[in-house]
Amino acid sequence: MIPTAQETTRRAAWSYDAPLPSVRLSIECFPPRGERAAARFWRNLGRLASVEPVFLSVTCGAGGTGREGTFPLVQEIRRRFGLEVAAHLTCAGHSRAEVDDLARAYWRSGVRHLVALRGDPPDGAARYEPRPDGYAYAADLVAGLRRIADFEISVAGYPETHPEAPSPAFDLDNLRRKVDAGASRIIGQYCFDTEKVLRFRDTLQRAGIRVPFVPGIMPIHDFARIKRFSRRCGASVPLWLERMFCGVPADSPLHAMIAASIAAEQCRRLVAEGFDHLHIYALNRASLTLAVCRLLGGAGALSAAA
Ligand SMILES: Cc1cc2nc3c(=O)[nH]c(=O)nc-3n(C[C@H](O)[C@H](O)[C@H](O)COP(=O)(O)OP(=O)(O)OC[C@H]3O[C@@H](n4cnc5c(N)ncnc54)[C@H](O)[C@@H]3O)c2cc1C
Repeated sequence: MIPTAQETTRRAAWSYDAPLPSVRLSIECFPPRGERAAARFWRNLGRLASVEPVFLSVTCGAGGTGREGTFPLVQEIRRRFGLEVAAHLTCAGHSRAEVDDLARAYWRSGVRHLVALRGDPPDGAARYEPRPDGYAYAADLVAGLRRIADFEISVAGYPETHPEAPSPAFDLDNLRRKVDAGASRIIGQYCFDTEKVLRFRDTLQRAGIRVPFVPGIMPIHDFARIKRFSRRCGASVPLWLERMFCGVPADSPLHAMIAASIAAEQCRRLVAEGFDHLHIYALNRASLTLAVCRLLGGAGALSAAA
């Protein structure tokens, strides 16, 4: 049987010989703590910047680290590398006035792209309680940011459903509210089960949610840590993944080889399925992300990224 054009493209994405449909990467990092971590951060960021990500995004933590940690870091990254930087902005635990002030400061500094998030309840809190004077959920935050300035706004989406959501349908409605409020991109929580990512894309399409969905990719730097973290954020860890890393020390070359192979395979499958933008949770490290870029066969000035 003669393959359709789409089948040919899909096959090409699996062959290292054929040109891969072009894929853009965005890369997420977090503010480093301490001098040694900062030195490592800048070294690694230099290597990551050389693959020319469409944007870098910088997370913010709970309790005011947005202004003290994320804001100055975003400015410094822009100054050093001239890259587009998306600043994460959370509303949990803050008044509307505090959040609005920070958003205005970003706009004045020239930052045009925000990742608008609710954020998690503080450690030890049994459940999330909105502040009466704050934005309750990310959809409210997006609406508030829209009133402040014409930001590009990305929001979070969950292929495996957010752990606090009463149902997948409720979570999907929540995502629709975020988009209706003015979000122009959905960045996916990482999900090791690629079939679930594809089903989520189909669900968004069926629901008429038309803004781009960018799957999140988590290269596994340390399987035990990622497993603990995944439990907290509701991302499942499939048994096949457990088996692959079973008994493999985190700092060993074998661990890195397995991790690069898994992440690259997921990326290539997603590209084969038509995704042209992937978001990499680099966790301030460079080598695995660069290995994935090379295995994808493109993405920027790779010779500089060794
Ligand atoms: C790409 C990405 C980046 C992230 N970056 C950060 C970061 O920088 N800093 C950080 O602290 N965290 C970050 N997180 C984690 C995020 O803050 C948590 O997952 C948080 O628990 C939910 O944030 P949200 O914006 O998805 O919330 P929301 O979209 O507000 O949803 C949170 C939960 O509330 C439910 N919900 C929504 N509206 C209502 C309502 N009216 N009544 C009842 N329930 C409702 C939703 O279904 C969902 O279960 C990130 C997550 C992702 C995927």
